[in-house]
Amino acid sequence: MAASPMQNLKELEEELSLLKNYPKKNLEEIIKEVGFSCTCCGRCCTKAFNGHVFLLSADAKRLKEFSPESLMPAPDFPYSDPSGNFYVSGYALKTKENGDCVFLDENNRCKIYDQRFTICRLYPYMLHREPDARGKIDWRQISGLGEHGSYDCPISDEECAQIAGDTISYEAAYLEQEIEFHKAVIQKFAEEKIRFVRKDHDRRVHEFLKTGKAAVYVWDGSSLVKEEV
Ligand code: SF4
Ligand code: SF4
Repeated sequence: MAASPMQNLKELEEELSLLKNYPKKNLEEIIKEVGFSCTCCGRCCTKAFNGHVFLLSADAKRLKEFSPESLMPAPDFPYSDPSGNFYVSGYALKTKENGDCVFLDENNRCKIYDQRFTICRLYPYMLHREPDARGKIDWRQISGLGEHGSYDCPISDEECAQIAGDTISYEAAYLEQEIEFHKAVIQKFAEEKIRFVRKDHDRRVHEFLKTGKAAVYVWDGSSLVKEEV
């Protein structure tokens, strides 16, 4: 995110409106046509393949109840204030030193499979707009297409409809979480008379990358919670 919280909020609201108008039938057809099937390689549960696993607030809340030590503020903090506090829209899953998710076992199986999170159940399906190699922004429906799993497998119409519905619900929940986070940041900055300056933020990020230590306000679905990293 390169703009101010207010500009980014506007873009997120536009994105949510576009998502709500996306025809579910189109997504169902793409899911059927691609015929993706997971080969259980476990790569999507590693930092090398997926960067980090971002959690919806409801999933983070659930994880806090049974394994709070597995949560961390999601990386790539988009905002900060003059006191050096960073701000981010949610939590992510911690990884081990080798980059594997803390819940991935030595056989590349999820140790909490029955309790895994919304994004873990949905991956690689997605529905958001991203630029292609030429910078043209368009919808993307399958993450890492051609880089994992197998294709052209039969998927029933019912299953396609279920996956499409779950994917749209997830993407809407994700955008709503981002929107709520932005509103909270805008309100806090207004109350504390903070003007967000991108140049100062970039300098703070640069310093954080050297020390690895900072205070971060994380949106937990209802408030900004201060955490230390
Ligand atoms: S919780 Fe399980 S499925 Fe989700 S990223 Fe971790 S190991 Fe993978
Ligand atoms: S979704 Fe893809 S990367 Fe993840 S385990 Fe299945 S095949 Fe591997």
